[in-house]
Amino acid sequence: MKEIKIFAPATVANISCGFDVLGMCLDTIGDEMIIRKTSKKGVLISKIVGQVLPLDITKNVAGVAALTLLKNIETPFGFDIEIHKNIKPGSGIGSSAASAAGAVFGINKLLGEPFSLQELIPFAMEGEKLVSGVAHADNVAPALLGDFTLIRSYKPLDIIKITAPKELYATVIHPQIEIKTSDARNLVKQTVSLNKTIAQMGNIGGFISGLYTENYDLIGRSLHDEIAEPYRATLIPAFENLKIVAKKAGALGSGISGSGPSVFALSKGKETAIAVKNAFATIYKNKSIDFEIHVSKINSEGIKIIR
Ligand code: ADP
Repeated sequence: MKEIKIFAPATVANISCGFDVLGMCLDTIGDEMIIRKTSKKGVLISKIVGQVLPLDITKNVAGVAALTLLKNIETPFGFDIEIHKNIKPGSGIGSSAASAAGAVFGINKLLGEPFSLQELIPFAMEGEKLVSGVAHADNVAPALLGDFTLIRSYKPLDIIKITAPKELYATVIHPQIEIKTSDARNLVKQTVSLNKTIAQMGNIGGFISGLYTENYDLIGRSLHDEIAEPYRATLIPAFENLKIVAKKAGALGSGISGSGPSVFALSKGKETAIAVKNAFATIYKNKSIDFEIHVSKINSEGIKIIR
């Protein structure tokens, strides 16, 4: 195999009760990447279409992730990466993670899969470290593994994939405003009270249990965040209104995607997810806020090979 074309999906991190530990993979929004073997060793990013991002491999997460993988294996050739960017950087749905995960996935395939998907996660995390300063896995893990992922621990890295209930759909709205991840982080308090910790533990336990037992009501009841959302909500236009109309339209619950500004809702069934989409859209149209909106089944595969 000399060349591979892949779909590198968008992802939602945190998912309310799973602050810094949960992520899920989307299906209808993502980048496309073409990765080719080259006779010249090393990594080259030859083309980026759709967004203005650095071609310099040390400044692009795809380049950094690819280089990290290649430090861990001897190869007689190099790789050329082409990125067709559909996920806007800074949207809060794992734009950089899609590139980091896509690069290591594609190179691994072209090498005959010397690494498992789990083993690729730390390489992709190095890419994430370039933009956030921290090698976090909450977007790259669901991009690589698909479905929901739970980061049980970083030291040692222990990431569990949890199958999504079949009828679970996400609606994601992206107001066209910019929130710096560092600003969103700074708003979150460094200490959390015992009461809030207990509530968060109850909800994450309930959420995971709801996923395994396909108990949609339990999933909905568990979608609360005591740690980040109360402070970050102020950054997102009409956040409380979005939450109210999502519930009215039948959503199980909703919250901030990653560190925002995107907002997600989870619903049972596509019809409800579309009703939530319409309700979300009406709020922003009435306030003249530009937005993009997506409805997506949870993607059980993660990155997909197009050819
Ligand atoms: P999101 O909020 O959607 O998760 P991130 O915060 O992960 O987006 O990434 C956005 C930042 O990463 C931007 O500063 C962007 O310039 C940088 N970046 C570097 N390489 C890439 C890439 N290949 N794709 C997207 N963003 C990248």
